[in-house]
Amino acid sequence: MSKVVDHLAELTGFRDRDVLDTTLAGALRDLLEPRRVAIHRCVGEDTSARRWLTRARLTADEAAATADPLWVEFDSLPKLTDFPARLAAIDSHEMVAVPGDPHVSVFPLFTDRDVAGVVEVETAQPLDDEQQRLVASILRIYRNFQSLLDYSERDTLTGLLNRKTFDEAFYKLSSQAIEGATAEGSEDRRTRGSGQIHFIGVLDIDHFKSVNDTYGHLIGDEVLLLLSRLMRSCFRYHDRLYRFGGEEFVVMMRCGDDADAGAAFERLRASVEAYTFPQVGRITVSVGYTALKAGDTPSSAFERADKAVYWAKTHGRNQVCSHADLLRRGELGDDNKVGDVELF
Ligand code: GH3
Ligand code: MG
Ligand code: MG
Repeated sequence: MSKVVDHLAELTGFRDRDVLDTTLAGALRDLLEPRRVAIHRCVGEDTSARRWLTRARLTADEAAATADPLWVEFDSLPKLTDFPARLAAIDSHEMVAVPGDPHVSVFPLFTDRDVAGVVEVETAQPLDDEQQRLVASILRIYRNFQSLLDYSERDTLTGLLNRKTFDEAFYKLSSQAIEGATAEGSEDRRTRGSGQIHFIGVLDIDHFKSVNDTYGHLIGDEVLLLLSRLMRSCFRYHDRLYRFGGEEFVVMMRCGDDADAGAAFERLRASVEAYTFPQVGRITVSVGYTALKAGDTPSSAFERADKAVYWAKTHGRNQVCSHADLLRRGELGDDNKVGDVELF
């Protein structure tokens, strides 16, 4: 009994979701002594094309759980239909037992807002009633705890991450990205090893005040909600999407180079422009983005992207601007000089 309580204390002691999943796998391994335990999540926005991402897997003799890398290529992940027992568990909201050697017990995993997944336990013998109840209870606690995390980390209107969680995620990401990047002028330098760099994009709705003034705040809120859905469908499952407050959104993403990041933001800009918002009709957005540099703080990176948004706003709106590109073109060379007017 005290072993169970110890594990629950450990499970609810972390606010980091990555650690939460490996802790859950560790708890189930210790309590059930299975051959193998794994946590798989459904990822991807488009329900017909979602895939399985393994968040934790642990065998009887391993000391620590392993997982698919967060940045794994989406198309290389197995399709949902490759694992019918997992789908059956999610559809039925019940444990699904697959007899054999090993015997596999698949438990559905739900959170209020997050994508669903499963816990798979492989044992020599089928789990008995008491073991099944134990897993179900632990998963209920896990779910409640995830809901609490969502409540503190997500914006209630859009479900996107809130500003509070940005700094922590920033430092976590940049500690991975910083290796290999050089300090000054490294905006388009690739990170050693991964061949990928992190970008921050700031997105601001054009003339949003007039949407509120013309149609009212409730319709304005509806636009914010629909915009957040467009954002979800334009970016990858591992990109982090934030509502910073008001009508300002931030995306933290990983991309090959400045042009790739620009293409992703351009895809979003174009899909917002093409979307008909109920009552309001068309709206547009301005986006500024920048690559993370060694030594960046959340506010220094944000400030560069924000400067690029400002430039977009003062040069016609409805466009995506790269901070590095504006610098190269001499558009931002001097903080006091906006635009390209040169006297000599
Ligand atoms: P610009 O193109 O220069 O960005 O013009 P703008 O009108 O979008 O910019 P500004 O920053 O002047 O106005 C932002 C407006 O966003 C002000 C406020 O009416 C609206 N707003 C801020 N937060 C919310 C919100 O939570 N809900 C709604 N409906 N409106 C909001
Ligand atoms: Mg604004
Ligand atoms: Mg605006």
